[in-house]
Amino acid sequence: MTDPRDILNSVFGFSDFRGVQRQVIARVLEGTRTLAVMPTGAGKSLCYQLPAVMREGTCVVVSPLIALMHDQLRAAEAVGIRAATLTSVDDNRAETRERFAAGDLDLLYVAPERASSGYFRDLLARAKLNLFAIDEAHCVSEWGHDFRPDYRLLRPLLDSFPDVPRLALTATADAHTRADILDQLGIPHDGLIVAGFDRPNIRYAISPKAGTTQQIADLIRETPGPGIVYAPTRAATEKLAEALSRTGRPTRAYHAGLDSAVRRRNQADFVASEDMVICATIAFGMGIDKPDVRFVAHAALPKSIEAYYQETGRAGRDGDPAVAHLFWGAEDFAKARQRIAEVEPERQAGERARLTALGALVETAGCRRAILLRHFGENPPPTCGNCDNCLNPPAAIDATETARKFLSAVFRTGQMFGVGYIEGVLTGQSSERSLMNGHERLSVWGIVDGEEAALLKPVSRALLLRDALRTNAHGGLEFGPGARALLKGEDDLALVLPPKRERRRRRGTAE
Ligand code: ADP
Ligand code: ZN
Repeated sequence: MTDPRDILNSVFGFSDFRGVQRQVIARVLEGTRTLAVMPTGAGKSLCYQLPAVMREGTCVVVSPLIALMHDQLRAAEAVGIRAATLTSVDDNRAETRERFAAGDLDLLYVAPERASSGYFRDLLARAKLNLFAIDEAHCVSEWGHDFRPDYRLLRPLLDSFPDVPRLALTATADAHTRADILDQLGIPHDGLIVAGFDRPNIRYAISPKAGTTQQIADLIRETPGPGIVYAPTRAATEKLAEALSRTGRPTRAYHAGLDSAVRRRNQADFVASEDMVICATIAFGMGIDKPDVRFVAHAALPKSIEAYYQETGRAGRDGDPAVAHLFWGAEDFAKARQRIAEVEPERQAGERARLTALGALVETAGCRRAILLRHFGENPPPTCGNCDNCLNPPAAIDATETARKFLSAVFRTGQMFGVGYIEGVLTGQSSERSLMNGHERLSVWGIVDGEEAALLKPVSRALLLRDALRTNAHGGLEFGPGARALLKGEDDLALVLPPKRERRRRRGTAE
């Protein structure tokens, strides 16, 4: 049998696999259904392209955007892979169908809505298939940030070809979305492979806002090289650019409201520059390939941990040291919460969970990188040595006992109640519900009072974040894999309460 590595060398011209590629490809080749979660740029395409080339037949790739498909088509053809797209804008559809049926294609890219057509199913039945690759698989989940109802049509199609292996791919999926993808696409839960999210050269730092312009100016003075400052509004980008120019560094603003010629010029100047600071809305950076960005500063709260990871990921692509510094205010969270209240009801739970995860990243006294990587499903060491909290451990309180009490209450009430109810149990707030449920007789009833009661909410957030607790579809809490270690005394939980931290910081800057 051919060695995948030979194809990697001869067809793709790469000397070695990256990260989990080898593992994912091995699973695909043995026919095991798999969900691969890999960050943007990690090389997801190769995971289906290589098996597609190596084995007889065609790999059908489901992709949500026609533009994306055409990009991938060009890239595939560039290395000599026989590929085609079958979309409404292609006028060579008849030819493509013929090539497909004749086994003359390695890859066939299609949009998800095709999946519902009986005609398409017949077409597939006439060809020899070697793989279904479902790109941007998070689109199948209503819990995810980019739900596309058409992705729900895929399952019946996949199921009518039970022997064809499935590979789902995504860059952005929290634990909940991932579980959803597995269920929706019929992939067993041990079919999940996650890896490659660490960016060890990026130093993460997160501070409460205390005169943000000054804080960013200080960061700029400490950090030579090009940088991106993300601001919340167009007006804010211009104001910041103006204020930060006083640091002596060239600064520019970038947002969708600028004249397109100005925008293009600012972007081109930034890409060419070795010391420019660009103040931008988050639209900036999408298509930009600038490997030597030395810092990314957030003057506005990102939308989610995924967004934060994506945006900070624009720093240090050359592998040299870079800094990602987020400045946050409690009011940012309040505003975000308000916005969530305005979205469609069915999206609110997902949005709220995303904000909670972000809140925990911001509030933690522990390692930022560990939190990020755990969020993406990796199993990182507890400290990284290259984030603010690892380099300068903040004073934190030990909330391990409170965390254990919280977990016990969740367990004893049957792992189905939300944070508010568990708080009520632990602090002994009698209600019709608690009476009816018989929970007032539990040993955990009313065992928390006074100052400790204020810890319960942040403790619950911390538990959710480290996957000791998970939220079910109805908002009830249940144990996650992290619960055991805490209950058995193998893990502890340190907590920094935000108001105290802010006060301490404020005093710190005044001294
Ligand atoms: P993703 O879809 O995960 O964002 P791509 O599949 O577009 O990433 O790959 C990103 C880049 O990495 C591409 O230019 C691709 O050719 C390159 N690449 C993929 N695998 C390898 C490898 N094993 N060695 C070197 N380069 C690779
Ligand atoms: Zn760290």
